[in-house]
Amino acid sequence: MAEATSGRSEEEFQDLLRRLELALEASQIGVWQHNITEQELLWDPQMHKLYGTGLQERKVPSDVWVNALHPDDIESAVRDFDMALERKGFYNSQFRIILPGGEVRHLRSRGHYYEDAEGAPSFIGAEWDVTADVLLNRELTSQKAIAEARAVALEQSRARIEHAADHDYLTGLPNRRYFDRRLAELRKDASVETLAVVHIDLNGFKEINDKWGHAAGDATLQSAAARISGAITANDLVARIGGDEFVAVLVNVGDIERLEAIASDIFSRLRRDVRFGNEMLKIGASIGVATGQTSSAGNLLAESDVALFQAKKLGRNRVEFFTTQLQSDLQAERRLADELRLAPVLRQIEPFYQIQVDARSRRIVGLEALARWRHPERGLLSPVAFLKVADEYGFTAEIDAAVLKRALADRAAWVSQGLSPPRIAVNISGRRLADPDLIVGLRALRIPRDAIAFELVETIFLDEPDEVVLANIAGIKEMVIEIEIDDFGSGHASLIGLVKLKPKRLKIDRQLVTAVTVSEEQRRLVGSIIEIARTLNVEVVAEGVESEDHARILAEIGCDELQGYAIGNPSSEKETAALLKSAQAASHSRFSAHVAAHATGSAGRGSDHS
Ligand code: C2E
Ligand code: MG
Ligand code: MG
Repeated sequence: MAEATSGRSEEEFQDLLRRLELALEASQIGVWQHNITEQELLWDPQMHKLYGTGLQERKVPSDVWVNALHPDDIESAVRDFDMALERKGFYNSQFRIILPGGEVRHLRSRGHYYEDAEGAPSFIGAEWDVTADVLLNRELTSQKAIAEARAVALEQSRARIEHAADHDYLTGLPNRRYFDRRLAELRKDASVETLAVVHIDLNGFKEINDKWGHAAGDATLQSAAARISGAITANDLVARIGGDEFVAVLVNVGDIERLEAIASDIFSRLRRDVRFGNEMLKIGASIGVATGQTSSAGNLLAESDVALFQAKKLGRNRVEFFTTQLQSDLQAERRLADELRLAPVLRQIEPFYQIQVDARSRRIVGLEALARWRHPERGLLSPVAFLKVADEYGFTAEIDAAVLKRALADRAAWVSQGLSPPRIAVNISGRRLADPDLIVGLRALRIPRDAIAFELVETIFLDEPDEVVLANIAGIKEMVIEIEIDDFGSGHASLIGLVKLKPKRLKIDRQLVTAVTVSEEQRRLVGSIIEIARTLNVEVVAEGVESEDHARILAEIGCDELQGYAIGNPSSEKETAALLKSAQAASHSRFSAHVAAHATGSAGRGSDHS
């Protein structure tokens, strides 16, 4: 020290010392000295402040330090010091102390070994408060941990949301979105050679929902999902792409027989009843399959849909495979449907009329209006060419309405020509009969009383008629439009319908009529239908009367009226007008002759129109 100060005045030295003290005080760094042999500590005032001793003396007992240490840090703090001592080197430690008031502070201590003038081993060092740093650090660490935890949670919920966006909540299957993406991926996948799409539509699902409620519907969908999944491999994919519509994509099932086997496996799994509580619910499926090389797989879904459409059309509960023939048929049918939709508006639908005569007098008592489509290119078309398509695409009601309107117009024209047209029977489809606006529409037509009869097919009112149908039937009767049951005996047992509906007349189906000339049994059958009708006060018309023999036999067994090729063919409005005119003229002359011969006489049953 003496050497260090040589060349400096005492004044300079005192000045230096004061400045050092000021600097230490400002920095709040304490300085300590530790004489190991004496176990003696020298603290400067700043050290006393750090430890809150309230003392001034430079010399402090060594246990003051150890006693101030936080119990948890004693071991490591003492070890750091002992190691520095052993190395006779640098000392660096950090520890907590507890102030007399109980407050915990973090201190950093650094020092160095030296031997004093007497050669005694000693340390000199400095110590300062790092509590703020430690706390800040700790805060940062915990913030970081929170941020990390939040990132993990965010990632989890992102994955959950993505899953939800790609999957159907009810069955857990991929949805349409995921399916489209996956199909596109498979198409680009070099390891995929062929793809097959199995398009599945459940049968009976709507009925289950309506009858047993949504819980039953849900259970049905869930079990269908599980059953379809059970029929395919892990490489394949099943998705639910609509209410009760599922699609399976089969990868590399090139062998058509295997594909058929898988499709029919899915089909038979879906035919088993679904257990719901104590109930066994009946379901089934229509399935359409399309397959192809991956390169040309662009339309697989559309093609499987075409096959599915065909499966439904052929009566549901079956598997159909896509073919190009099927596609062109369907396209032709769609074109026809597009044209047919416009046909009533373009006045291309017109009635042809077939006469109905009294079975005994053979006088004209009625006309049946039969729809014809005057197609601009294909000529005059019969109902076989278009009614099925009309029904499938849902516009039979429009056709019925067009026929009725034209029939009323034709009738009005005939009246203005001085003719007295008989009642005209028009056919009415189930769809039209279920139209809630039917009666309002009919009223607007101002149909003359007794001018019109409606022909209903049996099935309409046998399939549990709904409120609208019943109300419409009541409305029709109120308008004095007669009701006839068409094709009686062709469908199910129809006595109940007959009793419920109380029609004006029934028309015995052609198939029953045809057989009366060859089979005694059939004759008796038709005879008993007539008998029952009599009991119920219902008139009977025979349709499909193709020969004079038929006409005679039917008249004998009590049929009231006859209709068929032996009586007259369906004819245009003009031909029909001419026919009515000549019939009227003949009747007049016959009547005159009759009057002349007998001066009085009856014109017979049903002659009031002739
Ligand atoms: P339908 O109502 O039973 O009409 C009788 C059908 O039998 C008519 O066929 C008629 O031409 C045919 N026919 C008449 N006499 C004979 C005969 O002696 N032998 C044979 N083999 N057939 C005979 P068309 O005109 O082809 O009509 C077929 C069916 O189309 C009709 O059967 C009816 O169910 C339906 N239909 C016709 N017009 C309409 C309509 O405006 N609306 C609705 N919804 N259906 C209609
Ligand atoms: Mg008819
Ligand atoms: Mg008929």
